[in-house]
Amino acid sequence: MKLDKKTQQLINRLPKTVKVLHNTYKLRFVDRSDDPDWDDDTYGYIDLDASEIVIWKVVSPDRLVDTIFHEVLHGCIDSGNMRVFLKDEERLVQSLTTTLTCLLRDNKELFKCLIKN
Ligand SMILES: [Zn+2]
Repeated sequence: MKLDKKTQQLINRLPKTVKVLHNTYKLRFVDRSDDPDWDDDTYGYIDLDASEIVIWKVVSPDRLVDTIFHEVLHGCIDSGNMRVFLKDEERLVQSLTTTLTCLLRDNKELFKCLIKN
């Protein structure tokens, strides 16, 4: 499958790492065909031991960013030692991904102030 031009441009602009509290995760983009274990509904995963977020690179820009954010939230749960409180991490992360994406997009000025201060 051919990589979409907008997706490639986005990958080029993205930082190479994401910092989550005391952990820094490397972002790695792969061809899904390189790993036969990927199923059709999987767009990425976080490897906590390798400190790496692996993303399938042949997806739309929106899906790519959403997937990175989703995996970062799994990293937040791990870094914050929150797993012990959870019954269903996947459902929480799915819900938070949507909620926080909207929160960030709808309140850009608030988060600009938060980042500056
Ligand atoms: Zn997940």
